[in-house]
Amino acid sequence: TDSDTADEAVRATCDDASMCKRFATSKGYWKDPYIQYFVRQVGERKAPEINRGYYARVQGMNHLLDAFLRKTACDCQVINFGAGLDTTFWRLKDENLLPKKYFEVDFPMVVARKIHNIKTKPPLSKPIIETHSSDSLLIDGHSLDSDRYCIIGADLRELPSLDEKLKKFQLNPELPTLLLSECVLVYMTPEQSSRLVHWAAETFHTAMFVNYEQKERFLKTGWESANALDMAAVYSVLPQDDMARIERLEFLDEKELLQQLLQHYSICWAFKDKLKLGKSCKEC
Ligand code: SAM
Repeated sequence: TDSDTADEAVRATCDDASMCKRFATSKGYWKDPYIQYFVRQVGERKAPEINRGYYARVQGMNHLLDAFLRKTACDCQVINFGAGLDTTFWRLKDENLLPKKYFEVDFPMVVARKIHNIKTKPPLSKPIIETHSSDSLLIDGHSLDSDRYCIIGADLRELPSLDEKLKKFQLNPELPTLLLSECVLVYMTPEQSSRLVHWAAETFHTAMFVNYEQKERFLKTGWESANALDMAAVYSVLPQDDMARIERLEFLDEKELLQQLLQHYSICWAFKDKLKLGKSCKEC
C-alpha cells in the first residue's frame, strides 16, 4: 500500500543519518568507535557544511543528555524514540554514564537489523552482556531486553501498544526520565507527534524531552517549561577550542551557506520537575 511505501522511505532515513555520522567521524569531527559496525563503508564524501551541521547536532544532543545523567547521578532512565542505528548506549557504557536502563524504540524492521548487527559483532554484544546480571538475555527478532539496554520494535504513532511494550520491559514511570527524539517527529503528522509528546508528559512526573528538528515543528503539550535554540546559536556556544579544531579539518569558503543551514534546525528541551532536580542546577 501507499502507507507501507511511505513508512519504508522513513525507515531508510536511519541509514542516511548513520552514513553522515560515519563520514563525519572518519574525518575526525568526533569519535565513535561503534558506528563502523552499523555502517561498514565510509561512503561518499559529504559537504563540509553537512559535517559541521552533524557535529553541532551530536554535540548539542550529547551535552543535554550528559547534563541530565550527571544531575540525576544516573539514577534515571533514557528513552530514545526513533533511535535508528544510534550508538549512544555504547558511548555511555564506555564513559561510565549508563542510566539505570536505556530504551530505544524504532520500527520493528529497523530494530531487527540493529539486533542482527549486535548479535553478530562482539564489540557491540560484549558491553550488553557485561552489564547484564543473569544468564538469560531476551533477544528475538524484534526486541532485545537486558538489565541496562532494551530495544523495542514499535510504531510511535500507536501509543497504547507502545505504552504496553515499554511497561512489559520494566519502564518505571516514577524514575526521572529523559526522552530523546533526534530527527524523528518530523516524519509524523503534527497530531501524531503531539500525541507522543503528550503521552510523555502524562506518563512521567519528572522528565525532560529533548527534540532535534526543523525549527518550525516545535511543540509544547503538557510540559511545565520549554526552551529552544536554533542550531546557529548552538554552534556559536560550542566549546571554542574544539570548534577551532573542527574548523581546521575542512576548508569552508561559503560561511553564509552554513549559517543558513544551521538556522533551519533547532534543539528544544521541555521539562517537568516534580522532584525539583533542577533547583540547584546552574549549568544546564
Ligand atoms: N535518531 C537517529 C539519528 O538521529 O541518528 C535516527 C534518525 S532517522 C532520520 C529517523 C528514525 O525514526 C528512523 O530510524 C525511523 O525508522 C524512525 N521512525 C520514524 N517514524 C517512526 C514511527 N512512527 N515509529 C517508529 N520509528 C519511527
